[in-house]
Amino acid sequence: MGSTVWLAVIFTLAGAAVGSFLNVCIGRIPEGLSIISPPSRCPRCGHPIRFYDNIPVVSFLLLGGKCRDCSEKISFRYPLVELLTALFAWLLFDLYGLTPAFPAAFVFVCTLIVISFIDLDHQIIPHILTLGGIPVFAVLAVLFMGLTVIDAFCGIMIGAGVLYFVAVYYEALTGREGMGGGDVNLLAMLGAFFGWKSILFILLVSSLLGAVVGLVLILFQGRDMKYAVPFGPFLCMAALVYLFFGNSLILLFEALRG
Ligand SMILES: [Zn+2]
Repeated sequence: MGSTVWLAVIFTLAGAAVGSFLNVCIGRIPEGLSIISPPSRCPRCGHPIRFYDNIPVVSFLLLGGKCRDCSEKISFRYPLVELLTALFAWLLFDLYGLTPAFPAAFVFVCTLIVISFIDLDHQIIPHILTLGGIPVFAVLAVLFMGLTVIDAFCGIMIGAGVLYFVAVYYEALTGREGMGGGDVNLLAMLGAFFGWKSILFILLVSSLLGAVVGLVLILFQGRDMKYAVPFGPFLCMAALVYLFFGNSLILLFEALRG
């Protein structure tokens, strides 16, 4: 019991450190820059970040959210991503314990975090993450998450196919582009990890979340319907709901039906 608590603490702190690296990925992948070198710098004055100013969350608080050299405000995104990554490290360890499913699911969730924040910033979902993620997550799911090869394959095909047709019909009906190719690839990646049964659930929940947030933006910020809200973060949120509650929901559904 005691050692489990310590392990949870260690993984949560490690999660925050990984979150720091995810911030680098979020900033650099859309620019086509290396995520390994050079070390992090202030985007305004270019001063390299000192190691003692690079402690997840803590440094942000100690520095008052400002660069030590030029006082440029540091985006709130940095501590937020670090906190989120730490939180999911803890939740996933709690869910899977010391099994290979834990690191597999953690890498998957980290990818969703990077995709969500890149999509929020740039309205793009880089192919390197989704098209690269499809084979990686299909293999991880088959090896460690109990998915069959056929299920992963059908998940990729149905995930890509469904959104592709939604996108084509939406454009034909409204004359504007609603869903990008990035969303199609992302749903294929989610299907690769969860299998085909997840697709309908993820589509329903993400559309619902998107509709609620879209309505709130229209009502309270006066944005009009044409203002595009990126769909990727909603797909990722729905995927997280499925990851943590999908099995219980399927069992509940089957119990109700039988
Ligand atoms: Zn600076």
